[in-house]
Amino acid sequence: MKKIIAFNWKMNPQSLGEAKKLFNSYLLLYSSSKKEIIVCPPFIYLYELKDLKTKNLKLGSQDVFWENSGAFTGEISPKMLKNLGAEYVIIGHSERRQNLNETDEMINKKILAALKTGLKIILCVGENLKTRKQGKKAVENFIKSQLQKDLKNLPLNSLLSKTTSRKGLSYILNSRLIIAYEPIWAIGTGNSDSPKDAIEIIKLIKKTLNSIFYILNPRVLYGGSVDSKNIKNFLQCMQCNEIDGFLIGSASLQPKEIKNIIKL
Ligand code: PEP
Repeated sequence: MKKIIAFNWKMNPQSLGEAKKLFNSYLLLYSSSKKEIIVCPPFIYLYELKDLKTKNLKLGSQDVFWENSGAFTGEISPKMLKNLGAEYVIIGHSERRQNLNETDEMINKKILAALKTGLKIILCVGENLKTRKQGKKAVENFIKSQLQKDLKNLPLNSLLSKTTSRKGLSYILNSRLIIAYEPIWAIGTGNSDSPKDAIEIIKLIKKTLNSIFYILNPRVLYGGSVDSKNIKNFLQCMQCNEIDGFLIGSASLQPKEIKNIIKL
């Protein structure tokens, strides 16, 4: 399976002209890439970028609301996102969890609504520095608890009725649900996790998804200060095949970085 690289533009850039110019850096290089590339710009640029993109380049949004319509001022529904051209949606990014008090309960509602609409999900999980300092067991417990709360009540039955076996269910979930392990202390700090430690948590995430949600080969990305230099450490280490790709923030705004990452 191809590795996934999802680029999170966060709240950048400030104009549609700049967004189109930045997107062009991806379009120029995309055809030579051996990776599955997903670009997640701010909501307002999705529609215009959809018309520029080639078939294989995927678009994602950075958030979604859990209701389909109604009195929810300022929110964007899953269906609106689909109509705008988004195929993926990032849910539970730590910047939203921390700055906007987004809870696991809210994240769970978003996941269920997005899944129902047919959007594919990139769910972010990861511990803060305090938890990391408490040791491996604390990190494991934290991540497990996030997964259990965020993925509560997955509509296994309705998904299962569309297929014939657990294997089919696993396939559906596997292709619609990607997890990004993003230790909070590594995001936007320039201090990425070590491949060895990241892989340990990624393996734990896979084991948890497997045992609780019947997902056989879940795809788990690493995110947190990945750039064109340190990404090589994550691609060339022991057990690196456990990492199914990357979620990249700051470097996604720099044409030179984009070029060097996409061509890897
Ligand atoms: C992110 O926004 O998900 C992220 C990983 O950011 P950065 O690469 O800047 O750490």
